[in-house]
Amino acid sequence: MTDDSRVAPAREQELRAEVRDWVKSNWDPSMSLRSWREKLVEAGWAVPSWPERWYGRGLPAWADDVVRNEIQACGAVSSVATGPAGLAGPTILEQGPDNVRERFLRPLLTGEEIWCQLFSEPSAGSDLAGLTTTAVLDGDEWVVNGQKVWNTSAHHADLGMLLARTNWDAPKHQGITYLILPMKQPGVEVRPLRQMNYHASFNEVFMTDARIPKDWVIGDVNQGWRSALATLAHERRFSLFAEIGRFEGVDPGPALDDARREAEEIAKVYSWYPQRAGRADLAVEHARTAGVQADPIVRQEVARLLAMHRASQWTAERAKVARAIGRPPGPEGSIGKLALSNVARQAARVHSLIAGSAGMLAGTESSSPLGRLHPIIAEVLISVPGQSIAGGTDEIQHNIIGERFLGLPKEPDPSKGLPYREARNR
Ligand SMILES: Cc1cc2nc3c(=O)[nH]c(=O)nc-3n(C[C@H](O)[C@H](O)[C@H](O)COP(=O)(O)OP(=O)(O)OC[C@H]3O[C@@H](n4cnc5c(N)ncnc54)[C@H](O)[C@@H]3O)c2cc1C
Repeated sequence: MTDDSRVAPAREQELRAEVRDWVKSNWDPSMSLRSWREKLVEAGWAVPSWPERWYGRGLPAWADDVVRNEIQACGAVSSVATGPAGLAGPTILEQGPDNVRERFLRPLLTGEEIWCQLFSEPSAGSDLAGLTTTAVLDGDEWVVNGQKVWNTSAHHADLGMLLARTNWDAPKHQGITYLILPMKQPGVEVRPLRQMNYHASFNEVFMTDARIPKDWVIGDVNQGWRSALATLAHERRFSLFAEIGRFEGVDPGPALDDARREAEEIAKVYSWYPQRAGRADLAVEHARTAGVQADPIVRQEVARLLAMHRASQWTAERAKVARAIGRPPGPEGSIGKLALSNVARQAARVHSLIAGSAGMLAGTESSSPLGRLHPIIAEVLISVPGQSIAGGTDEIQHNIIGERFLGLPKEPDPSKGLPYREARNR
């Protein structure tokens, strides 16, 4: 990757022209999405910042957005499949080994295999390394027993990024292996969880003698914690490949139909995420529609919200630039995530200040402008708490900033150095 943070305009124009020429001679809207994605992967345009050996072109990270936008401007489908695959892809690329890269990266990019993240357990969320799901090697297979929870997309996933304990005699962080679990097998039971906002994007996953081929290991056996940190850093850095469902200007045909169907399926899981983020974008409209835009307290709170929102967008931009110039994940990931939580909470405060008790109204019966907003506001109010939990809670982000970036003393860990079998019972 280049170390130059400025994208030379000439280089960008050259790249756009190259993409245009390629799309012109390869895109055919009557082909299937799978065939189109195969071509993109083959040519290295699916994720051009990846190395040539792994379906990319070895370009700097800024090229991903440029190429994606140019493909779409030419009327072709630009997106690769995303959701949790956007975490699995970069983790496998970085952590390997090669046999895993060879087996999994290509179908991940073509969207043939859907992923989910199997990290959290009922008593191991923030304290993720305290997990107890166990994998034992039996000949050529790992046999897995245990339970995971809060697993987004697990109900339709083909593969799970699974953290399991493989050595109970090693200290807490050293006996964990990062495995790839085939989800569609008798030993895996997925039970959807209904949330208080009526959506069901999470699941519980129960594994009873579930089987995994011996070499489906990301990184090294018993060193899975290191690879897990890579996934978590990507999660904080908002590095999912692309926005879901951007198809303006794409030529109609089977490829677009397939892409829309795929995006709708993925979007079902994420449809409440804009509400989870607080819908700061609706604050001014909400105040005007309710006729309280001149109220000094409302004005002050809306202004505070918009200022916080703008500042958090700048932090996200900084994170994006850091990624584009190939910097390792830094504090902007945790700071950005905290900023999003603060914006979401402030947005919920503003919406409830304006709506009063009407903010509790659900349903879509009313055709008045305010009535149309209320169901969204109600969903905001009960979805916002999820923002400061997903991908590591606010408190955990504070700990990360303090310990890893400010050099403050680490939290006391009574289990340090002890075999986990012993530490767990203390
Ligand atoms: C929208 C959403 C999507 C998710 N998707 C997935 C997924 O796909 N896969 C997956 O595996 N998990 C997923 N999760 C789970 C998520 O990672 C966990 O909920 C999160 O890590 C917190 O763990 P916990 O729920 O067990 O809370 P706990 O760890 O029990 O925390 C409870 C409270 O204690 C505080 N606390 C805990 N430890 C400390 C500490 N050391 N210092 C200070 N305070 C502390 C926490 O901040 C929190 O307020 C998702 C969660 C959400 C909300």
